[in-house]
Amino acid sequence: MPTPPNWSEAPEFDPARITLRLLRTPHDRAIDLLPTSRRPIGTFTHFHQRRTIPCAGLPDCPLCLAGHPARWHGFIAALLLPHREHVIWQYTAPLAHQIGEYLAQAESLRGSIITAKRIAPYPNARITIWIRPAGNNTAPLPDPPDLPALLCRIWDVPNTNQTPNRITEGHADRFTPQPDSADPRYNPNPNGKERAR
Ligand SMILES: [Zn+2]
Repeated sequence: MPTPPNWSEAPEFDPARITLRLLRTPHDRAIDLLPTSRRPIGTFTHFHQRRTIPCAGLPDCPLCLAGHPARWHGFIAALLLPHREHVIWQYTAPLAHQIGEYLAQAESLRGSIITAKRIAPYPNARITIWIRPAGNNTAPLPDPPDLPALLCRIWDVPNTNQTPNRITEGHADRFTPQPDSADPRYNPNPNGKERAR
């Protein structure tokens, strides 16, 4: 004899089961994003055997040691308009400076709106962004998700849960996100760790 149901309004909430879509800027239209992340995070990754593999940098990363190039990408959790789908927007290194300049003024990405588009209709064409305060446009924003945990799950690697550095270390010879790393806005603490907010 089957047992009767045990009703509840919702299953028990497990933050470890949240999944968000990783969104690259599409080649055929502009997108509008309302960040839920306070600040971006980024890392070098390799695209190897059709997979994205995060890069630990030299001397630890076997792919670097084998001569495979690594690229820096930034990630911001955001609501994709008009339907407010919560996504992880992935952007390329050249945009990091512009996002950093906005943050030097605003301290947080929450409350901003980012319009991103490619300058030509190709999947890897350069991206331009327009970032500005969203004004009354935001409505309540959900809490920011745990981006490192989500990305590590997407990439299927352990999450060491370290505090992100303001400036990526270990690749300074290949890429510097900001043109002047002596600018105190980008490195407020000598040890490079992010201040608690
Ligand atoms: Zn590497």
